[in-house]
Amino acid sequence: MKDVTPQTVYLKDYRVPDFLIDNTDLVFDLREEHCRVTSSLRIRRNPDSATQLAPLVLDGGCAVDLQWVEIDGRRLGSDGYARSENSLTIAELPDSCVVTTEVLIKPHLNTSMMGLYRSRTLYCTQCEAEGFRDITFYLDRPDVMSEFTAKLIADRQRYPVLLSNGNAIDQGTMEDGRHFVVWHDPFKKPAYLFALVAGDLSSVEDSFVTLSGREIKLQIFVEEKDLNKCDHAMLSLKNAMRWDEQTYGREYDLGRFMIVAVDDFNMGAMENKGLNIFNTSAVLANPDTTTDAAFQRVEGIVAHEYFHNWSGNRVTCRDWFQLSLKEGFTVYRDAQFSADMNSAVVKRIEDVVYLRTHQFAEDAGPMSHPVQPDSYMEINNFYTLTVYEKGAEVVAMIHNLLGDKTFRQGSDLYFSRHDGQAVTIEEFVSAMEAVSGLDLQQFRLWYKQSGTPVVEVQSNYDAQAKTYQLQFKQSCPDTPGQTHKKPFLIPIKLGLVAADGQDLPLNSHGDRSLVISLTEQTQTVLFENIQQAPVPSLLRGFSAPVRLNYPYSSAQLAHLMANDSDGFNRWDAGQTLSFSVMQRLIEEALDQRELEVSSQLIEVFDGLLSDHSLDPAMLNLMLQLPSEAQLHERADIIHVQAIHRARQFARRSIAQALQSKLLETYKRLTEQRDYAPVADQIGRRALRNSVLGYLMLLEEIGPELAWQQFNSATNMADKAAALNALVNCAAAQDYAQQALQAFEQQYAQETLAMNLWLQIQATNSQPNGLDRIKALMEHSAFSINNPNKVRSLMGAFCSSNPINFHNPEGSGYQFLQQQIIQLNALNPQVAARLVTALTRWKKFPEPNRQLMRDALQLIASKQDLVKDLREIVSKSL
Ligand SMILES: [Zn+2]
Repeated sequence: MKDVTPQTVYLKDYRVPDFLIDNTDLVFDLREEHCRVTSSLRIRRNPDSATQLAPLVLDGGCAVDLQWVEIDGRRLGSDGYARSENSLTIAELPDSCVVTTEVLIKPHLNTSMMGLYRSRTLYCTQCEAEGFRDITFYLDRPDVMSEFTAKLIADRQRYPVLLSNGNAIDQGTMEDGRHFVVWHDPFKKPAYLFALVAGDLSSVEDSFVTLSGREIKLQIFVEEKDLNKCDHAMLSLKNAMRWDEQTYGREYDLGRFMIVAVDDFNMGAMENKGLNIFNTSAVLANPDTTTDAAFQRVEGIVAHEYFHNWSGNRVTCRDWFQLSLKEGFTVYRDAQFSADMNSAVVKRIEDVVYLRTHQFAEDAGPMSHPVQPDSYMEINNFYTLTVYEKGAEVVAMIHNLLGDKTFRQGSDLYFSRHDGQAVTIEEFVSAMEAVSGLDLQQFRLWYKQSGTPVVEVQSNYDAQAKTYQLQFKQSCPDTPGQTHKKPFLIPIKLGLVAADGQDLPLNSHGDRSLVISLTEQTQTVLFENIQQAPVPSLLRGFSAPVRLNYPYSSAQLAHLMANDSDGFNRWDAGQTLSFSVMQRLIEEALDQRELEVSSQLIEVFDGLLSDHSLDPAMLNLMLQLPSEAQLHERADIIHVQAIHRARQFARRSIAQALQSKLLETYKRLTEQRDYAPVADQIGRRALRNSVLGYLMLLEEIGPELAWQQFNSATNMADKAAALNALVNCAAAQDYAQQALQAFEQQYAQETLAMNLWLQIQATNSQPNGLDRIKALMEHSAFSINNPNKVRSLMGAFCSSNPINFHNPEGSGYQFLQQQIIQLNALNPQVAARLVTALTRWKKFPEPNRQLMRDALQLIASKQDLVKDLREIVSKSL
């Protein structure tokens, strides 16, 4: 595959399709050496098209080997059509007809994991965004929706299970040891939601009775050895189905819902109609092999893909510029679900940390783009944090502006108005406007303007007049292609906290928390009858995806940490305090001065550890210093060594000062109950393992504790945390080696556990990291063909081991550049994800800056670079 001259696609060039496809009948004859695909498309001219004489141009990738074409059963000669590298054009066509093609494809040679490919012994598909064109010729765009029938034929022994979307309507055996199943999906859908699976799979079955009393068959298909790892996904699915009925009034439509787990998969999972295909890492879970974080990820992803049945499938996107229509909304829905299933404030804090660390960095980098981009070279590069996570924040703001009841009316209207249609983000916002009567004109800028807005706040208390004034000033930095941005509509939820810790009444209604809508560049809000100078609690619950700055004193932050009625802001006050302490330490490290941690931070942590009334999950979050990645995001210039050293020093100082309380907390939280992946236990384990992390900095205590925990752990959450602690501790290297070996022996047959083993070593911050990575690439647990393994080893090293990856010799960059060039031919999507570790070179000091740039230029100079990489590399340079 090569893309000589990648074309840029623009939103403004959108035109309706010239043809529509009412029915799509497919026959897949699967053989070991190839797959023969016969496709019959009942097509007609689109009455809405402006060009009624346009030829039919079907998309089809270069690996699709055309055998013949028929129109209404009449075979065309080679002069009847034109095949180019990416299309098939048929010039003369009746206004409605059946176009039949037969093609050969070679799934076993397909390493891109788009289209139809092999994962171990399975055949499976991934068609979003544009993979269907690598299976057969088609109008591969989401606004062409068709009724699909698929007949799958394969060897009965090797592929006893044959699945596609919808309902199985026929099946039978053939004389040559082969068999077939015919699937029909009564719901019209775009090709990106088509799916096919063939293999030797076992299944776990269950059922769900919908609100209207229909019984739905639920099936999770896995390899037989993994049958004991499906319970959590099944439970999560049933919870999600019930929740979507209760919260959004959405009921499942088909008679069965299937999930298939595959090992080789570029993403987390895919919402194909009635037949979700999942990365094994997003479905399999078992206490012995799966961490708490992975259990929660399974719950979230199962729900996310299920929710797409309405927000994505029943109502889909008109074109790929509307991707956030389905993704932003569905991420918002799955976040609400996870908040309801677990602790809402903990979920909110985790999501905001993720957004601030990674999406804010994307917003400030060379690939910065709006939630609704206006152009792309390769759509796969726009499955981004901005489209997903910031898109979800935008939906959350709409929800907060409308209130619960009206937001539900808005989503009901959106679903009923557009059921069965392919629509735009504009249609979603319009439905919300229609039910609320609000004017969301200015609000729409959140979809169009890129970059993270900054809100500066000043206050003034007038003791005579008893008034308190807040002055807001908003701005948004320039981003590629966008300067001089207009003011956003920014909802700021706030309260004023009095000296006694209570929220003051803010108006004559006695409201103690309010949402102020900033609409101007500068805006002043005045509160009357304020009897004392309060501490402002701003942006409660992170009510908008902005950076907000207010000149808090340390004492004010400590006051908010102790008293704020908003749990998110209690935590955030602590973060602001930690950031300022870290900032000073980083400066001291850069100036080669002696480092000293402020006693205030130690006091705050002391207070937290002494307060046994705090929810362990919350306490765990409050004890976290900002990660190195967060410090990188906040820095103007990223001084990797100084940041690493400052953070380690702060952690060690906390551990030394609070040794006995940390140890007491660790012991107090030792779990007596049987393992369960439930919020309360997960919070306790997370806290205990964080405390262990601090204790590891005390050489005489930590290594023994972690070694004991490793050997006595009854679940993977505790075992992996202990292994990680040992591996990262200079004083525990003997134990670390023994533990790594024991782990390897125990889990050699468990792919996902071995990926974790790779990942823990990849993020090991001890010296000589790159040598360890290179050695692990030779290990049988690694394969460059498997995306999960590439992410666990190379991905984790480049993104989460800064001290080793950004070594001043540049060997980390050279290594990554070589891997990317290898992956260029193998798997463009995985390569494109990895390269982002180099794209922010402008933020690094010399010599790293130049070395990163050199690595990017070497990639850019490669002749046959796929367009996924071409786009990112050229925008970064
Ligand atoms: Zn999604």
